[in-house]
Amino acid sequence: MERLANDCFANASEMISATEALEKISTAAAPIVRTEKVTLFESEGRILAEDIIAPRNVPPADNSAVDGYAFRFSDYEVAPDKPRNIVGQSKAGHPWVGTPEIDAAVKILTGAIMPEGLDTVAMAEDVSRNGNQVILPAGLKTGANCRKMGEDIREGQVLLEKGTSLRPQELGYLASVGLGSVKVFRRLKVALFSTGDELTNPGEPGSVTSIFDSNRLILNSLLAKLGCTVTDLGILKDRLHTVRTALDNAARDHDLVLTSGGVSMGDEDHVKSALGEIGHLHFWRIAIKPGRPLALGQIGNTAFVGLPGNPIAALVCTLMFVRPLIKILSGAALEPPLSFKVPADFGMKKKPGRTEWLRGRYRLSGTGVGRVEKYPTEGSGILSSAVWANGLIEIGDDVTYIEKGDLVTFLPYSELMK
Ligand code: AMP
Ligand code: MG
Repeated sequence: MERLANDCFANASEMISATEALEKISTAAAPIVRTEKVTLFESEGRILAEDIIAPRNVPPADNSAVDGYAFRFSDYEVAPDKPRNIVGQSKAGHPWVGTPEIDAAVKILTGAIMPEGLDTVAMAEDVSRNGNQVILPAGLKTGANCRKMGEDIREGQVLLEKGTSLRPQELGYLASVGLGSVKVFRRLKVALFSTGDELTNPGEPGSVTSIFDSNRLILNSLLAKLGCTVTDLGILKDRLHTVRTALDNAARDHDLVLTSGGVSMGDEDHVKSALGEIGHLHFWRIAIKPGRPLALGQIGNTAFVGLPGNPIAALVCTLMFVRPLIKILSGAALEPPLSFKVPADFGMKKKPGRTEWLRGRYRLSGTGVGRVEKYPTEGSGILSSAVWANGLIEIGDDVTYIEKGDLVTFLPYSELMK
C-alpha cells in the first residue's frame, strides 16, 4: 500500500504554502496497519489501535469521599440534631453489610461502600461523638460527601478512541476499568541516513575539510521522542550508486526512509536521481523560511522524505512537516501542536507570501508577563540559535512587519517534540 499517495504531488513544481503542504500530507499519508497487544505497563507513548469501551462503572458503587458517618438524608431532614446510634463500620474493601434502622448512622472511611439505604456522609471532624452515638452538624445537603456509582466513567461509554496517544493519565484511566493490556499500532520503523562527502561521525578525527554530522543526532533523538524505532544507517558518500543501493535496501524493511542533505541542485546532490531510479520522488517548493525544497516520495511501499542538509532547515522541516507525517503513518489522531499568542520582544520586517519560523526564547519578566525574543541571526546553518531557543516563533504568510509588543505565535519545543 502506498504510504504517500501519488496524487498529493499534482503540480508539485508550483510553490505551495505551508498550510497547503500540511493539508496534502494529511490527505495523502496512509497509516501502517499492523498492531500489537501490549500490557499497560509497556504502553506509555503508544497509539491506541482500537476504541476502548468501558467494561464497568467507575466508581463501581456509591462510596464515601471522606472519613465520617453515613446516614439517610430523609431521617436527618426530619430531626437533624437527634443523637444517632452508630450501628457499624464500613471500610474500603470491607463494606458493612446490613440494613440500618431509622435514624441510625454507620461509621465510614474514605472509599468504603455506602451501606444500603444510606445516601449522605457527615465529615468526622464536623460531628460530636458521645459514646456509641453521634450528633450530626446542621446544614448538610443530600448526597454530601458521597461519590456516586459511575460518576467518573459509565459502563459502555467510549473511554478512549482509536488514535489516542497514551500518556500517564490515559494509562491510569485504562487501569481504572480493569484493563491489563491494549491493542496499539506497531512502532513506525524509520531508516535514517545523512549524506555528504564532507561529513564525519562525531567521535572520529576531523580535519578542516570535515563537518561533523549533527543532523543524524538531532533526527535520531527526535524520532525516538516521536515514538519511532530508528535504524541509524550512518553517512552516505555523494555517489549515485551508493545512495541508490542504500535507499533501496533500507526501504525493504522500514516504513519511512529519512535522509538529510543531497537534495539541492548541486552536482553532488544524488538523492533525487537515485529516487527517480528506484521509486517516485517529488520536490515540494514550500513558501517557508528556513527551507529548501523538501523531497517527498515513495520507494515501494515505504515513504521517503529527503530533508535539506543545513541543520536548522532540517530541524524546522522535521518539526513542521515530518512530525505530522509520522503521526499519521503511526496511526495517531492528528492535532495541531499547542501554540500560544505572546508579545514579541523584537521588531522585524518580513517578505509577504511565506511562513517563517524563527528560533524564539520565551521568558517571564520580573512582573510575570511573558515575552518572546528571537535569535539575532537567522542563517539556517546556525545551530546556536536552536540551542539558545525554547521554541519556534511562527510568522504567517501575509505578515510584512512586526513591532515590539505585537502578538506572535509561539510553539514551545516541548509541544513539537512529542
Ligand atoms: P546539502 O543539502 O547536502 O547541500 O548540504 C547543505 C549544507 O548542510 C552543507 O553546508 C552541508 O555541509 C551541511 N550539512 C549537510 N548534512 C549535514 C549534517 N548531517 N550535519 C551537519 N551539517 C550538514
Ligand atoms: Mg551535501
